[in-house]
Amino acid sequence: MIRTFETDAEYLQWCKTNGDGYVLNAHRSLSPVSLVIHRAHCKLITQYQGKTQPGGFVEGQYLKIGSRDAGKLKNWARKERLAHRGKLDGIARECKACM
Ligand SMILES: [Zn+2]
Repeated sequence: MIRTFETDAEYLQWCKTNGDGYVLNAHRSLSPVSLVIHRAHCKLITQYQGKTQPGGFVEGQYLKIGSRDAGKLKNWARKERLAHRGKLDGIARECKACM
């Protein structure tokens, strides 16, 4: 099962209650370099820092997909990339800080 999020509040709540789950972070363009999988407790995707303002996690240019199963996120990335571009590149990388 995967979760999508409409608001940062909804997203951050899911991360809090699924800290050992996984989050796929992606630019809405699904550009391959933007596809990164994190643990749900990773600071890089749960704390506003640098240019990330409130709303910036899922309400702006980026989206997040949550799951208890990292494999489901990789499958999602693969399928969406195929749907958008017809190519099989851009399988999500894993965050070096938390994975
Ligand atoms: Zn991370």
